[in-house]
Amino acid sequence: CSSTTPITATFFPGDGIGPEIAESVKKVFTTAGVPIVWEDHYVGTEIDPRTQSFLTWESLESVRRNKVGLKGPMATPIGKGHRSLNLTLRKELNLYANVRPCYSLPGYKTRYDDVDLITIRENTEGEYSGLEHQVVRGVVESLKIITRQASLRVAEYAFHYAKTHGRERVSAIHKANIMQKTDGLFLKCCREVAEKYPEITYEEVVIDNCCMMLVKNPALFDVLVMPNLYGDIISDLCAGLVGGLGLTPSCNIGEDGVALAEAVHGSAPDIAGKNLANPTALLLSGVMMLRHLKLNEQAEQIHSAIINTIAEGKYRTADLGGSSTTTDFTKAICDHL
Ligand code: NAD
Repeated sequence: CSSTTPITATFFPGDGIGPEIAESVKKVFTTAGVPIVWEDHYVGTEIDPRTQSFLTWESLESVRRNKVGLKGPMATPIGKGHRSLNLTLRKELNLYANVRPCYSLPGYKTRYDDVDLITIRENTEGEYSGLEHQVVRGVVESLKIITRQASLRVAEYAFHYAKTHGRERVSAIHKANIMQKTDGLFLKCCREVAEKYPEITYEEVVIDNCCMMLVKNPALFDVLVMPNLYGDIISDLCAGLVGGLGLTPSCNIGEDGVALAEAVHGSAPDIAGKNLANPTALLLSGVMMLRHLKLNEQAEQIHSAIINTIAEGKYRTADLGGSSTTTDFTKAICDHL
Protein backbone atom coordinates (compact mmCIF):
# COMPACT_ATOMS: atom_id res chain seq x y z
CA CYS A 1 0.00 0.00 0.00
CA SER A 2 3.02 2.30 -0.28
CA SER A 3 4.77 3.74 -3.30
CA THR A 4 7.97 4.44 -1.33
CA THR A 5 11.22 2.99 -2.74
CA PRO A 6 12.03 -0.19 -0.80
CA ILE A 7 14.54 0.13 2.02
CA THR A 8 17.05 -2.67 2.59
CA ALA A 9 17.38 -3.78 6.22
CA THR A 10 19.55 -6.50 7.77
CA PHE A 11 17.68 -9.28 9.59
CA PHE A 12 19.25 -11.67 12.10
CA PRO A 13 16.60 -14.34 12.84
CA GLY A 14 18.90 -15.60 15.63
CA ASP A 15 18.75 -18.79 17.68
CA GLY A 16 16.12 -20.82 19.57
CA ILE A 17 12.69 -19.22 19.08
CA GLY A 18 14.36 -16.60 16.83
CA PRO A 19 13.46 -18.12 13.43
CA GLU A 20 9.81 -18.66 14.51
CA ILE A 21 9.25 -15.08 15.64
CA ALA A 22 11.26 -13.74 12.68
CA GLU A 23 8.82 -15.52 10.38
CA SER A 24 5.97 -13.82 12.21
CA VAL A 25 7.53 -10.37 11.69
CA LYS A 26 7.99 -11.02 7.99
CA LYS A 27 4.34 -12.10 7.60
CA VAL A 28 2.98 -9.07 9.47
CA PHE A 29 5.24 -6.61 7.63
CA THR A 30 4.28 -8.08 4.25
CA THR A 31 0.58 -7.89 5.15
CA ALA A 32 1.00 -4.24 6.17
CA GLY A 33 2.76 -3.48 2.88
CA VAL A 34 5.94 -2.24 4.57
CA PRO A 35 8.43 -1.23 1.87
CA ILE A 36 11.37 -3.18 3.30
CA VAL A 37 13.58 -5.77 1.65
CA TRP A 38 15.23 -8.02 4.23
CA GLU A 39 18.84 -9.12 3.98
CA ASP A 40 18.91 -12.26 6.14
CA HIS A 41 22.06 -13.07 8.10
CA TYR A 42 22.62 -16.22 10.14
CA VAL A 43 25.08 -16.84 12.93
CA GLY A 44 28.01 -18.87 11.53
CA THR A 45 29.00 -22.37 12.66
CA GLU A 46 32.67 -21.50 13.19
CA ILE A 47 34.55 -18.53 14.56
CA ASP A 48 35.31 -15.82 12.02
CA PRO A 49 38.85 -14.65 12.86
CA ARG A 50 37.96 -11.12 11.70
CA THR A 51 35.27 -10.75 14.40
CA GLN A 52 36.59 -13.39 16.85
CA SER A 53 33.05 -14.70 17.13
CA PHE A 54 30.45 -16.76 15.28
CA LEU A 55 29.18 -13.57 13.70
CA THR A 56 30.68 -13.13 10.27
CA TRP A 57 32.35 -9.99 9.01
CA GLU A 58 29.81 -9.98 6.15
CA SER A 59 26.94 -9.71 8.68
CA LEU A 60 28.55 -6.70 10.35
CA GLU A 61 29.21 -5.12 6.96
CA SER A 62 25.54 -5.61 6.07
CA VAL A 63 24.42 -3.55 9.11
CA ARG A 64 27.09 -0.90 8.44
CA ARG A 65 25.93 -0.61 4.83
CA ASN A 66 22.15 -0.65 5.47
CA LYS A 67 22.42 1.35 8.73
CA VAL A 68 19.28 -0.38 9.95
CA GLY A 69 18.40 -3.88 11.07
CA LEU A 70 16.27 -6.16 13.21
CA LYS A 71 17.72 -8.84 15.45
CA GLY A 72 16.26 -11.97 17.02
CA PRO A 73 17.79 -13.46 20.19
CA MET A 74 21.23 -15.04 20.05
CA ALA A 75 22.26 -17.73 22.52
CA THR A 76 25.53 -17.27 24.40
CA PRO A 77 27.03 -20.56 25.63
CA ILE A 78 28.62 -19.95 29.04
CA GLY A 79 32.32 -20.72 29.46
CA LYS A 80 32.97 -21.79 25.83
CA GLY A 81 35.79 -19.30 25.47
CA HIS A 82 34.48 -17.18 22.60
CA ARG A 83 33.16 -13.68 22.51
CA SER A 84 29.41 -13.20 23.12
CA LEU A 85 27.55 -12.53 19.87
CA ASN A 86 25.63 -9.65 21.42
CA LEU A 87 28.79 -8.11 22.82
CA THR A 88 30.47 -8.44 19.41
CA LEU A 89 27.60 -6.60 17.73
CA ARG A 90 27.59 -3.82 20.31
CA LYS A 91 31.36 -3.35 20.24
CA GLU A 92 31.94 -3.71 16.50
CA LEU A 93 29.01 -1.53 15.50
CA ASN A 94 29.51 0.89 18.39
CA LEU A 95 25.89 0.50 19.47
CA TYR A 96 26.26 2.85 22.40
CA ALA A 97 22.68 3.25 23.66
CA ASN A 98 19.99 0.64 24.20
CA VAL A 99 16.54 2.20 24.33
CA ARG A 100 13.77 0.15 25.93
CA PRO A 101 10.28 1.62 26.10
CA CYS A 102 8.10 -0.05 28.70
CA TYR A 103 4.40 0.70 28.76
CA SER A 104 1.19 -0.96 29.93
CA LEU A 105 -0.57 -2.70 27.06
CA PRO A 106 -4.25 -1.79 27.05
CA GLY A 107 -6.32 -4.92 27.48
CA TYR A 108 -3.63 -6.96 29.18
CA LYS A 109 -4.12 -6.59 32.92
CA THR A 110 -1.08 -6.45 35.17
CA ARG A 111 -0.56 -4.96 38.64
CA TYR A 112 -0.21 -1.47 37.11
CA ASP A 113 -2.17 0.23 34.32
CA ASP A 114 -0.06 3.34 34.05
CA VAL A 115 3.49 2.22 33.26
CA ASP A 116 5.05 4.46 30.63
CA LEU A 117 8.78 4.74 30.96
CA ILE A 118 11.91 4.54 28.86
CA THR A 119 15.16 2.98 30.03
CA ILE A 120 18.30 4.08 28.23
CA ARG A 121 21.25 1.83 28.92
CA GLU A 122 24.89 2.58 28.17
CA ASN A 123 25.76 -0.37 25.98
CA THR A 124 29.52 -0.47 25.39
CA GLU A 125 31.41 -0.43 28.70
CA GLY A 126 30.85 -0.58 32.48
CA GLU A 127 30.90 -4.11 33.91
CA TYR A 128 30.36 -5.55 30.42
CA SER A 129 33.67 -4.39 29.00
CA GLY A 130 34.72 -8.02 28.58
CA LEU A 131 37.90 -7.46 30.63
CA GLU A 132 38.11 -10.37 33.04
CA HIS A 133 41.19 -12.29 34.12
CA GLN A 134 42.58 -14.55 36.80
CA VAL A 135 44.91 -12.76 39.21
CA VAL A 136 46.11 -15.94 40.92
CA ARG A 137 44.41 -19.32 41.24
CA GLY A 138 41.10 -18.83 43.06
CA VAL A 139 41.02 -15.05 42.53
CA VAL A 140 39.55 -13.43 39.44
CA GLU A 141 39.13 -9.80 38.54
CA SER A 142 36.65 -8.00 36.28
CA LEU A 143 37.26 -4.42 35.26
CA LYS A 144 34.42 -1.90 35.24
CA ILE A 145 35.30 0.80 32.74
CA ILE A 146 33.52 4.15 32.73
CA THR A 147 34.74 6.82 30.34
CA ARG A 148 33.79 10.44 30.03
CA GLN A 149 33.28 10.03 26.29
CA ALA A 150 30.78 7.13 26.52
CA SER A 151 28.95 8.64 29.51
CA LEU A 152 28.50 12.03 27.81
CA ARG A 153 27.36 10.28 24.64
CA VAL A 154 24.62 8.23 26.33
CA ALA A 155 23.54 11.15 28.55
CA GLU A 156 23.25 13.39 25.49
CA TYR A 157 21.16 10.70 23.78
CA ALA A 158 18.85 10.41 26.82
CA PHE A 159 18.22 14.16 27.11
CA HIS A 160 17.79 14.57 23.37
CA TYR A 161 15.34 11.65 23.41
CA ALA A 162 13.39 13.23 26.28
CA LYS A 163 13.22 16.58 24.51
CA THR A 164 12.16 15.19 21.13
CA HIS A 165 9.61 12.73 22.58
CA GLY A 166 7.74 15.12 24.86
CA ARG A 167 9.20 13.65 28.04
CA GLU A 168 9.67 15.82 31.12
CA ARG A 169 12.21 14.12 33.34
CA VAL A 170 15.49 12.23 33.14
CA SER A 171 16.63 10.16 36.13
CA ALA A 172 20.27 9.07 36.26
CA ILE A 173 20.50 5.71 38.07
CA HIS A 174 23.75 5.03 39.93
CA LYS A 175 25.60 3.71 42.96
CA ALA A 176 28.04 6.59 43.27
CA ASN A 177 27.91 6.46 47.06
CA ILE A 178 29.96 3.22 46.82
CA MET A 179 31.42 3.33 43.29
CA GLN A 180 32.61 6.86 43.78
CA LYS A 181 35.02 7.10 40.88
CA THR A 182 33.19 5.15 38.16
CA ASP A 183 29.55 6.00 38.86
CA GLY A 184 30.75 9.39 40.12
CA LEU A 185 32.12 10.16 36.65
CA PHE A 186 28.92 8.88 35.03
CA LEU A 187 26.86 11.27 37.18
CA LYS A 188 29.21 14.19 36.54
CA CYS A 189 28.69 13.71 32.80
CA CYS A 190 24.89 13.48 33.22
CA ARG A 191 24.93 16.75 35.21
CA GLU A 192 26.96 18.48 32.51
CA VAL A 193 24.49 17.45 29.82
CA ALA A 194 21.48 18.30 32.05
CA GLU A 195 22.65 21.92 32.15
CA LYS A 196 22.11 22.15 28.40
CA TYR A 197 18.48 21.03 28.80
CA PRO A 198 16.94 23.35 31.42
CA GLU A 199 13.43 22.40 30.23
CA ILE A 200 13.98 18.78 31.33
CA THR A 201 13.89 18.00 35.07
CA TYR A 202 16.99 16.09 36.13
CA GLU A 203 17.33 13.85 39.18
CA GLU A 204 19.73 11.22 40.50
CA VAL A 205 18.45 8.01 42.10
CA VAL A 206 20.53 5.30 43.79
CA ILE A 207 19.94 1.95 42.04
CA ASP A 208 18.64 0.03 45.09
CA ASN A 209 16.16 2.78 45.92
CA CYS A 210 15.19 2.92 42.22
CA CYS A 211 14.26 -0.81 42.29
CA MET A 212 12.06 -0.27 45.32
CA MET A 213 10.39 2.80 43.80
CA LEU A 214 9.80 1.03 40.46
CA VAL A 215 7.96 -1.91 41.98
CA LYS A 216 5.97 0.33 44.34
CA ASN A 217 4.98 2.99 41.83
CA PRO A 218 6.46 2.91 38.31
CA ALA A 219 4.64 6.15 37.45
CA LEU A 220 7.32 7.95 39.46
CA PHE A 221 9.68 7.60 36.48
CA ASP A 222 9.82 8.96 32.94
CA VAL A 223 13.22 8.49 31.21
CA LEU A 224 15.94 6.58 33.07
CA VAL A 225 19.59 6.62 31.97
CA MET A 226 22.22 4.34 33.47
CA PRO A 227 25.46 2.40 33.08
CA ASN A 228 25.43 -1.00 31.36
CA LEU A 229 24.82 -3.57 34.14
CA TYR A 230 22.16 -1.51 35.93
CA GLY A 231 20.42 -1.00 32.58
CA ASP A 232 20.41 -4.72 31.88
CA ILE A 233 18.75 -5.49 35.20
CA ILE A 234 16.37 -2.53 35.48
CA SER A 235 15.03 -2.99 31.95
CA ASP A 236 14.09 -6.63 32.70
CA LEU A 237 12.48 -5.49 35.95
CA CYS A 238 10.45 -2.99 33.89
CA ALA A 239 9.49 -5.76 31.43
CA GLY A 240 8.07 -7.66 34.41
CA LEU A 241 5.87 -4.68 35.30
CA VAL A 242 3.97 -4.86 32.00
CA GLY A 243 3.62 -8.58 31.39
CA GLY A 244 7.02 -10.13 30.77
CA LEU A 245 9.78 -10.60 28.26
CA GLY A 246 7.47 -11.66 25.44
CA LEU A 247 6.21 -8.07 25.17
CA THR A 248 9.14 -5.68 25.46
CA PRO A 249 11.04 -4.28 22.49
CA SER A 250 14.28 -2.34 22.27
CA CYS A 251 16.47 -0.51 19.82
CA ASN A 252 20.26 -0.17 19.84
CA ILE A 253 21.52 3.18 18.62
CA GLY A 254 24.96 3.43 17.09
CA GLU A 255 27.19 6.13 15.75
CA ASP A 256 26.77 7.18 12.10
CA GLY A 257 22.98 6.76 12.43
CA VAL A 258 22.99 2.95 12.76
CA ALA A 259 19.91 1.46 14.47
CA LEU A 260 19.57 -2.24 15.31
CA ALA A 261 16.22 -3.08 16.91
CA GLU A 262 15.96 -6.26 19.00
CA ALA A 263 13.64 -8.07 21.39
CA VAL A 264 14.80 -7.85 25.00
CA HIS A 265 14.38 -11.57 25.63
CA GLY A 266 16.77 -14.44 24.90
CA SER A 267 16.48 -17.54 22.72
CA ALA A 268 14.04 -19.29 25.14
CA PRO A 269 15.46 -22.80 24.59
CA ASP A 270 12.68 -24.29 26.77
CA ILE A 271 10.01 -23.47 24.16
CA ALA A 272 12.09 -23.32 20.95
CA GLY A 273 10.71 -25.17 17.93
CA LYS A 274 7.29 -25.70 19.56
CA ASN A 275 5.37 -22.83 17.91
CA LEU A 276 4.67 -21.39 21.39
CA ALA A 277 6.75 -18.17 21.40
CA ASN A 278 5.15 -14.78 21.67
CA PRO A 279 6.38 -12.72 18.70
CA THR A 280 5.15 -9.40 20.19
CA ALA A 281 8.55 -8.23 21.50
CA LEU A 282 10.23 -8.70 18.12
CA LEU A 283 7.23 -7.22 16.30
CA LEU A 284 7.28 -4.13 18.54
CA SER A 285 11.05 -3.90 17.99
CA GLY A 286 10.22 -3.89 14.27
CA VAL A 287 7.77 -1.04 14.96
CA MET A 288 10.60 0.90 16.65
CA MET A 289 12.70 0.29 13.55
CA LEU A 290 9.90 1.61 11.32
CA ARG A 291 9.61 4.77 13.44
CA HIS A 292 13.37 5.24 13.17
CA LEU A 293 12.93 5.03 9.38
CA LYS A 294 10.06 7.56 9.62
CA LEU A 295 7.65 4.94 8.23
CA ASN A 296 5.19 6.16 10.86
CA GLU A 297 1.98 5.19 9.11
CA GLN A 298 2.92 1.50 8.85
CA ALA A 299 4.40 1.61 12.36
CA GLU A 300 1.08 2.82 13.82
CA GLN A 301 -0.96 0.31 11.78
CA ILE A 302 1.11 -2.64 12.99
CA HIS A 303 1.22 -1.32 16.56
CA SER A 304 -2.58 -0.99 16.68
CA ALA A 305 -3.09 -4.45 15.18
CA ILE A 306 -0.88 -6.01 17.89
CA ILE A 307 -2.55 -4.06 20.72
CA ASN A 308 -6.04 -4.88 19.41
CA THR A 309 -5.27 -8.58 19.04
CA ILE A 310 -3.97 -8.79 22.61
CA ALA A 311 -6.83 -6.65 23.98
CA GLU A 312 -9.45 -8.76 22.21
CA GLY A 313 -8.10 -11.71 24.20
CA LYS A 314 -9.19 -14.39 21.72
CA TYR A 315 -5.70 -15.18 20.53
CA ARG A 316 -2.95 -15.01 23.11
CA THR A 317 0.22 -17.05 23.52
CA ALA A 318 0.88 -19.13 26.65
CA ASP A 319 3.09 -16.51 28.36
CA LEU A 320 0.00 -14.23 28.42
CA GLY A 321 -2.22 -17.00 29.75
CA GLY A 322 -3.63 -18.05 26.37
CA SER A 323 -3.32 -21.21 24.29
CA SER A 324 -2.62 -19.83 20.82
CA THR A 325 0.37 -20.88 18.78
CA THR A 326 2.81 -18.34 17.36
CA THR A 327 1.26 -18.94 13.94
CA ASP A 328 -2.36 -18.42 15.10
CA PHE A 329 -1.48 -15.25 17.01
CA THR A 330 0.39 -13.93 13.95
CA LYS A 331 -2.57 -14.70 11.71
CA ALA A 332 -4.88 -12.82 14.10
CA ILE A 333 -2.64 -9.74 13.86
CA CYS A 334 -2.64 -9.99 10.06
CA ASP A 335 -6.46 -10.24 10.12
CA HIS A 336 -6.57 -7.02 12.19
CA LEU A 337 -4.43 -5.32 9.57
P1 NAD B 1 15.21 -16.09 27.88
O1 NAD B 1 14.77 -14.69 27.71
O2 NAD B 1 15.58 -16.83 26.65
O3 NAD B 1 14.05 -16.92 28.62
C1 NAD B 1 13.56 -16.59 29.92
C2 NAD B 1 12.12 -17.13 30.08
O4 NAD B 1 11.24 -16.31 29.31
C3 NAD B 1 11.94 -18.56 29.52
O5 NAD B 1 11.03 -19.25 30.33
C4 NAD B 1 11.36 -18.34 28.14
O6 NAD B 1 10.54 -19.41 27.70
C5 NAD B 1 10.54 -17.07 28.34
N1 NAD B 1 10.47 -16.28 27.08
C6 NAD B 1 11.44 -15.50 26.57
N2 NAD B 1 11.04 -14.95 25.42
C7 NAD B 1 9.77 -15.37 25.20
C8 NAD B 1 8.82 -15.17 24.17
N3 NAD B 1 9.08 -14.37 23.12
N4 NAD B 1 7.63 -15.79 24.27
C9 NAD B 1 7.33 -16.57 25.32
N5 NAD B 1 8.20 -16.82 26.34
C10 NAD B 1 9.40 -16.23 26.27
O7 NAD B 1 16.44 -16.09 28.92
P2 NAD B 1 17.51 -17.22 29.25
O8 NAD B 1 16.83 -18.56 29.30
O9 NAD B 1 18.23 -16.72 30.41
O10 NAD B 1 18.52 -17.20 28.02
C11 NAD B 1 18.54 -18.15 26.97
C12 NAD B 1 19.68 -17.80 26.00
O11 NAD B 1 19.43 -16.53 25.39
C13 NAD B 1 21.06 -17.69 26.66
O12 NAD B 1 22.02 -18.28 25.81
C14 NAD B 1 21.29 -16.19 26.77
O13 NAD B 1 22.66 -15.85 26.74
C15 NAD B 1 20.59 -15.70 25.53
N6 NAD B 1 20.12 -14.29 25.62
C16 NAD B 1 20.22 -13.55 24.49
C17 NAD B 1 19.73 -12.25 24.48
C18 NAD B 1 19.82 -11.46 23.20
O14 NAD B 1 20.11 -12.00 22.16
N7 NAD B 1 19.58 -10.16 23.25
C19 NAD B 1 19.13 -11.71 25.64
C20 NAD B 1 19.02 -12.52 26.77
C21 NAD B 1 19.51 -13.82 26.75
